[in-house]
Amino acid sequence: MLRRTLLLGLCRGPLGRGLGTHRGGSILDRDGKMSEIKKKIQSILPGGDWNPLYDTSYLPPESSDVVIVGGGVLGLSVAYWLKKLEKPRGAIRVLVVERDHTYSRASTVLSVGGIRQQFSVPENVQLSLFSIDFLRNINEYLAVADDPPLDIQFNPSGYLLLASEKGAAIMENNVKVQRQEGAKVCLMSPEQLRNKFPWINTEGVALASYGMEHEGWFDPWCLLQGLRRKVQSMGVLFCRGEVTRFVSSSNLMKTASGEEVNLKRIHEVHVKIDQSLEYQPVECAIVVNAAGAWSGQVAELAGIGNGPPGTLQGTKLPVELRKRYVYLWHCPQGPGLETPFVIDPSGTYFRREGLGHNYLGGCSPTEEEEPDPGNLEVDHDFFQDRVWPPLAQRVPAFETLKVRSAWAGYYDYNTFDQNGVVGPHPLVINMYFATGFSGHGLQQAPAVGRAVAEMVLEGHFQTINLSSFLFSRFYSGEKVQEHNII
Ligand SMILES: Cc1cc2nc3c(=O)[nH]c(=O)nc-3n(C[C@H](O)[C@H](O)[C@H](O)COP(=O)(O)OP(=O)(O)OC[C@H]3O[C@@H](n4cnc5c(N)ncnc54)[C@H](O)[C@@H]3O)c2cc1C
Repeated sequence: MLRRTLLLGLCRGPLGRGLGTHRGGSILDRDGKMSEIKKKIQSILPGGDWNPLYDTSYLPPESSDVVIVGGGVLGLSVAYWLKKLEKPRGAIRVLVVERDHTYSRASTVLSVGGIRQQFSVPENVQLSLFSIDFLRNINEYLAVADDPPLDIQFNPSGYLLLASEKGAAIMENNVKVQRQEGAKVCLMSPEQLRNKFPWINTEGVALASYGMEHEGWFDPWCLLQGLRRKVQSMGVLFCRGEVTRFVSSSNLMKTASGEEVNLKRIHEVHVKIDQSLEYQPVECAIVVNAAGAWSGQVAELAGIGNGPPGTLQGTKLPVELRKRYVYLWHCPQGPGLETPFVIDPSGTYFRREGLGHNYLGGCSPTEEEEPDPGNLEVDHDFFQDRVWPPLAQRVPAFETLKVRSAWAGYYDYNTFDQNGVVGPHPLVINMYFATGFSGHGLQQAPAVGRAVAEMVLEGHFQTINLSSFLFSRFYSGEKVQEHNII
């Protein structure tokens, strides 16, 4: 009441009259009076709207059913599918905690945006087949009423994988699997290759596989923003902050084999607020670890891997940062519009970037060459020594290329088998993973988000059985044997 009287007084009382009738004074004069008036009101109304101390909108809520750590493409995809599949609508509260809203170091925005069907493990083909449907019909999934349609700049183009004599039999088997799963991929002899792509030097190539549909590349930033816009419209909450701690309770249990294990449940997530020492606890029922290259560190915060070596409790989430360079070059004599996404037997890759004879590409370093992941500086010698020679050997026109720019990003690298980790942890029973995809997490995010949401809501995978991607394989030693890791 007091506040209302004062506010009305501003218009009609002496203060208000002073404002309304002032004539002829300078702007400085008037501004000075305004600030005096504000100060006076502020002293009477310490809880007034303009008092920033009382603005708490940047804080996370006190509780949320699901807390997703990481707002990259995987975290947002999980958020999307949780809201899409929840029954009844509005049943669950979902909070996404992201520490860097500029995404300056996130893998998603530093990737090269490729999607392919050419994997060797059926689950990977299935994931990418669903994802391509999602991407090609993006507005059926991510449209927001009254907003313009989303354009992710999808560029359809086949991947062209080249195999040496040594890799030819594996390639043939891979293509069998791809076709069984419904992907349209053809095998090409070196001669067929020369006829279709006359700019390729086929020396050292025994066989090639070429995707005839459902492959290409798109703008990862557009997908990220589209997902963000959509999940906000579905009621997902966002918080800018870093998850620094989990509060959990534990129960000692005995497994069937007699091993004693500590089952843990996370009750609270502590979020350190951006640019401050303050943290906020958020009560929760489920935590999704979608922290990308940092998800190994987030798992450690939950005590994962803090047990005797060789036990389930001592098994870490083997996901770490691995720095990868991408170089962008110009070459007026280079191949044209028909350039596919080429993967050389040496591991070097390239694709067209736009229509102006620009290309981008790179290659993964060997274990011994792994650069220090402490920063995202680019090593230009790596291009000269490791990338350019195989490029120029495969495409002689690239002898004359000129590098225009370059960047580095982090692979969310799974050191165990370079494949995704999906589903709950066997001991920290309410932490779920959506991470570790190494070089193919962007393209699989739409399908992985759905798989994690199915697990959270139904307790099992419904559409694609991803049991072989569970955390438990790190303990049992069963690797996902994917031949086409790039
Ligand atoms: C050079 C390069 C090329 C690539 N090319 C392709 C490609 O062609 N096709 C493809 O499918 N994939 C590609 N990838 C891989 C792909 O980019 C990743 O697998 C995918 O983007 C991972 O998504 P994400 O959401 O898990 O990770 P991110 O995008 O890294 O998001 C994770 C987020 O978690 C946040 N975070 C971390 N810790 C915390 C914390 N404690 N609290 C709060 N927030 C936290 C981070 O700030 C980050 O924004 C490429 C990657 C690189 C680096």
